[in-house]
Amino acid sequence: MVIDLHTHSTASDGTDTTTELVVKARAAGLDVLAITDHDTTGGWDEALAARPAGLTVVTGTEFSCVHEVDGRRISLHLLGYLFDPNHEALRAERARLRESRLGRGRQIVQNLAADGIPITWERVAELSDGGAVGRPHIARALVENGVVGSVGEAFTDLLSSRSKYYARKADTDVFMAIEMVLAAGGVPVFAHPLATRRGPVVDDAVITRLAEAGLVGLEIEHPDQSPEEREHLRRLAADLGLIGTGSSDYHGSNKTIALGACTTRPDVYADLISRARAAQPVG
Ligand code: AMP
Ligand code: FE
Ligand code: FE
Ligand code: ZN
Repeated sequence: MVIDLHTHSTASDGTDTTTELVVKARAAGLDVLAITDHDTTGGWDEALAARPAGLTVVTGTEFSCVHEVDGRRISLHLLGYLFDPNHEALRAERARLRESRLGRGRQIVQNLAADGIPITWERVAELSDGGAVGRPHIARALVENGVVGSVGEAFTDLLSSRSKYYARKADTDVFMAIEMVLAAGGVPVFAHPLATRRGPVVDDAVITRLAEAGLVGLEIEHPDQSPEEREHLRRLAADLGLIGTGSSDYHGSNKTIALGACTTRPDVYADLISRARAAQPVG
């Protein structure tokens, strides 16, 4: 059984529509696919409706979170699976995060344009097409205008969080996010906890506190985590009694990673879905 528990569609910053995503997933030999767009459940209905025979769909969202410690702000991502999309507090929080993504995207574009870099908000809005706006949409507009050669290149400099053009978005305190996902009957899993190549990460003491707060799992096999980072997480998960998932974090052509590049073991998947109280996978 091939299980990929973290993917993105055009409902956020992936390049495949949700329909294309589920069709491609089956064609790629996946048996289980979780759709986990940033801060939205916008792709869920389409994913379930377009689900090809033989593919099981797990509904999920990747929440933009933050942990502040000693005045230091570390951004992190929390995957919530199989929660009730109508749970009011969580629904309102997703809306707040998406709204903030809009204003912040506009601000980054304005910062770039003010410095003479050819880019317009109109084009970025068009590329995001009603989905949750992210830096990858800005990156694609920069590629179109010949400013950079690729989306990845845009992130190394112009769109990096250390760039002078960068603007911050609203995030959810990660402890609050765990609490809300649990309250909505879902299963919280820490996405790529040790992806140091993306930026600063939280330490083991914080992950221990997250486990105490009800975190269910750590994403261990992930393209942005080195073999050493994965090994560290494996030991930590064992110590804390957390499950360890694996996923591609597929974003279509915004990244070079293929569907199923990293996968979750069937017994771990069974464990994960047994913890869900609001919904079950469909298929
Ligand atoms: P944002 O959520 O708007 O802050 O943008 C972060 C998103 O950009 C992440 O969720 C990734 O999908 C994407 N991203 C980050 N680094 C890269 C990269 N080097 N190449 C392509 N996409 C990236
Ligand atoms: Fe993304
Ligand atoms: Fe992420
Ligand atoms: Zn992701």
